[in-house]
Amino acid sequence: FQTVNVLGVDFINTTNHDFLTQLKADSQANKNRFVVTANPEIVLAAKQNPQLATAIKSSDYTTADGIGIIKGAKILKTPLPERITGYDTMCALLDWANANQKRVYFLGAKPSVLADLKKKLAQNYPDLVIAGSHDGYFQDEGPIVNDIKQAKPDFVFVALGFPKQELFIANHRQVATAIWMGVGGSFDVLAG
Ligand code: UDP
Repeated sequence: FQTVNVLGVDFINTTNHDFLTQLKADSQANKNRFVVTANPEIVLAAKQNPQLATAIKSSDYTTADGIGIIKGAKILKTPLPERITGYDTMCALLDWANANQKRVYFLGAKPSVLADLKKKLAQNYPDLVIAGSHDGYFQDEGPIVNDIKQAKPDFVFVALGFPKQELFIANHRQVATAIWMGVGGSFDVLAG
């Protein structure tokens, strides 16, 4: 994708439809991918936090997740077509994973939310292969990273809030050839 720079971050210039087509192709081709869905809060935080800025730069796709980014791009006369949110992208990928026997790992949120999420997944995505899951309140990353590795997931959704989730993915994405995406509060939303 071509990109549009807003306040130092390069956003992919594409639609939800074309982005999903790309992610599905990447998954079929066994690519390792890191998706950041960035809102203005993240862009500003990256200005203060060099480690986060480096993590975002290391992503394969940074999407405009927030009307502020869309407005900023318009003002800069390099418009972006629409928002691409973590929640919408995750739900579309779950649909596809459900239909294509792809393995999904869920990392993050409170244990009770994760339990509710699994019930919702069973209802909404009955054929989904849950490769593994772990709540987001752990001390030691090592065992979690090892669990993800053993699970051999095709998709890893990480709901630790920003910037934790982006730093986690940037540091550990090599353990699984998967599409990795930080999804913020999406587990809570989907769990209802
Ligand atoms: N979260 C977590 N571990 C933490 C901090 C947050 O698993 O150490 C989870 C939290 O339970 C929620 C998600 O991260 O499910 C998103 O949190 P928040 O809404 O604060 O982040 P944002 O949506 O602003 O990225």
